[in-house]
Amino acid sequence: MKTIKNHFPIFKNNPDLVYLDSSASSQKPQVVIDAVSEFYTNQYANIHRGIYDLSQNATDRYEEVREKVAQFIGARHVSEIVLTSGTTEALNLVAFGWAKKKLQKGDIVVLSEMEHHSNIVPWLVLKKEIGIELVYLPMTKDFKLDYKKIADAPQERIKLISLTHASNVLGTINPLEEIISYFKKINPDMKICIDAAQSVPHMPVNVLNLGCDFLAFSSHKMLGSSGVGVLYAKKELLDEMEPHMFGGNMIRKVTKESVFWADTPDKFEAGTPNIEGVIGLGAAIDYLQEIGLDAIQKHEQELISYSLEMFKNKKNVTLFGPHSEDDRLGVFSFAIGNVHPHDTAEILNRLHIAVRTGHHCAQVLMTVLGVAGTARASLYLYNTKEDIDRLEEGIEEVKKTFKI
Ligand code: PMP
Repeated sequence: MKTIKNHFPIFKNNPDLVYLDSSASSQKPQVVIDAVSEFYTNQYANIHRGIYDLSQNATDRYEEVREKVAQFIGARHVSEIVLTSGTTEALNLVAFGWAKKKLQKGDIVVLSEMEHHSNIVPWLVLKKEIGIELVYLPMTKDFKLDYKKIADAPQERIKLISLTHASNVLGTINPLEEIISYFKKINPDMKICIDAAQSVPHMPVNVLNLGCDFLAFSSHKMLGSSGVGVLYAKKELLDEMEPHMFGGNMIRKVTKESVFWADTPDKFEAGTPNIEGVIGLGAAIDYLQEIGLDAIQKHEQELISYSLEMFKNKKNVTLFGPHSEDDRLGVFSFAIGNVHPHDTAEILNRLHIAVRTGHHCAQVLMTVLGVAGTARASLYLYNTKEDIDRLEEGIEEVKKTFKI
């Protein structure tokens, strides 16, 4: 893993950069850049339309990526993969394509306190529109999901549980196989939706092993292009869902009076999609598989232990997230004394260390933590122990500046 950084031109072109914001978006390896560039240079055409070679080849390349995605997450059928613009659109599709049709006033959707806004806001809108109720699963003191608290909610009214696989703020990885089998024992008819935006880039994820009904993730966090994402859903659920966007490509027949949808998954992909972005996602999956998600996980695990040791030894630095290495990602939200996270990030920025600050699109969680925001350093396969050493120097610089 030592030479991985060389695969990413951004590091060659910015030799001093310490990039610690991969939870927001990852950097891109040369192979992804080349795949997109090669597609534009030699193969570009719109898809699903032309009968000329260029268009048919572009369509084949696009559809090959759908197959690659299905295989990558262990879906049974390629038609269970809807290509979206990202996790956000995928979760909106579950809310407005499935839940809006299937749920009614008084039905309960269970979320957790550690959700990203994209897994809260659509449900709040649906609450207003059709009167569903929301129940938020709390966290334990050590930042784990207290999922057994579901027992406090009226079981017969719970229709859907929508949870993050891993928190983009705390780094907590929720043990989904255990959680989902617990929920399904309570009520086998509950549907389970997983926000896998933070997990799919870092660990093997298999939808059949998890036993979920829906799963969403984004290409740009897993080395691929931005503006592309995936909704996996069981075929029978997609078949009964309504499209959420209307126009070309998603129809079987249109008359002056009526319209008939195309089959799943085409009925969810109206208009010209981000074709080159999908090509980039395909190249990213190839690259991740070549390196191996197990090897990536092992490398990140070493960095996580190293980082936790660093944070443990820092006085007046609070880490918001599990302090043990098990079941956590390399995502470290922290506060240095009472220093405003923006000041922390600005001092780190002057040292060419890129971290994120703010509420991380998780204001419900910020309220639970009792803070307005945090600074967050997040790791990926290209990070090294030297990057963590530089972060430590940066933290010392912040402490020196504010005399902490
Ligand atoms: N869920 C989680 C847990 C995330 O971290 C993010 C991105 N920060 C999203 C959803 C939304 O992803 P996107 O912006 O790619 O749609």
